[in-house]
Amino acid sequence: MTVELTPSFKTKSGDPITIGAGSGTAWKSFKRGDPSNEDNLNEIVDKLAFSIKAGYNHLDTAEVYTTHPEVGKAIKKSGAPREKLWITTKYITSSPHINKTAESPQEYVDETLKELGTDYIDLLLIHHPFFEPQQSKNGYDIKKLWKEFIDVKKTGAVRYIGVSNFTVDHLKSIIEVSEEQGGREFYPTANQIEFHPYLQNQSPGIVQFAQENGILIESFGPLTPLFRIIDEDTKKEVVDHPLKTVLPELAKKYNKTEAQILLRWVLEKKALPITTSSKEDRIKEALEIHKFELKPEDVELIDTEGAKFPYRAFFKGRF
Ligand code: NDP
Repeated sequence: MTVELTPSFKTKSGDPITIGAGSGTAWKSFKRGDPSNEDNLNEIVDKLAFSIKAGYNHLDTAEVYTTHPEVGKAIKKSGAPREKLWITTKYITSSPHINKTAESPQEYVDETLKELGTDYIDLLLIHHPFFEPQQSKNGYDIKKLWKEFIDVKKTGAVRYIGVSNFTVDHLKSIIEVSEEQGGREFYPTANQIEFHPYLQNQSPGIVQFAQENGILIESFGPLTPLFRIIDEDTKKEVVDHPLKTVLPELAKKYNKTEAQILLRWVLEKKALPITTSSKEDRIKEALEIHKFELKPEDVELIDTEGAKFPYRAFFKGRF
């Protein structure tokens, strides 16, 4: 039932990391929509604290989500010792959605540690590679930025460094920097990408390349086939797609929900899902995927049916 992920990350206290509890997508809109609304902020904190108490040890946040303070408060509220948790955050060179105050990765880490109320970050990611040197004061391209990520790792304030939404070419170019700076120790350790049966490779060959190079694929948007399939022309939800019949059948066969089947499929692919819910039963239900497995023929069925309907929900037009 346990899937051995490569690499298999552990919290500082030595526990394998669970699937991630996200604080982006729905929560970021909630926070950004009305940041002064105390009820909104408490709701985010409560649900994240509930997730930790339910057994998640892995929290996913980012500079653009603006949810660091809520993640920090949730950790406090849960009462969980810091070293039993894994916190991932993502740096961005610029964004129209935030008032960026920290320019360099080092400044970002200093600021983030205060916002989270902690003295280290488990995993620091470059949020995406879609930036140009003229968009940041320090003139970052991905190689220059990666060199500074390596420098931050050397300080010990960050345990691991990685990336998100990177293609094979992006990975190859930062791996060159890693080689110059000391080799494997400074390779990216994770690539967080959109990954579900309708998008089995966010960019060509990315999953295989990452896995061959010991880079963990983390999946965001894993539940996309359930409710996020929109017709480009009509902007309406597509009601008929291949998994519409397959998922209910599998859910019945395994006595699980369709969401659990999708999340477990991600794990069977040796990738780690990051998911989000505002509903306590769904938060608990998602964790259950560590306790069952899909038969190889059913994984194959999802692969085959999923491949018939390629669909990208995030970063459209970027790949
Ligand atoms: P999911 O695909 O898991 O979608 C979560 C949404 O699904 C929630 O809004 C939730 O709504 C709904 N949901 C949860 N469980 C069920 C269920 N059983 N049945 C039907 N609907 C359900 O993941 P996200 O898109 O939220 O992404 C996860 C995390 O990944 C984000 O929070 C963020 O941290 C990260 N992310 C990273 C990106 C990147 O560029 N690196 C991009 C996007 C996300 P409800 O509250 O109603 O349950």
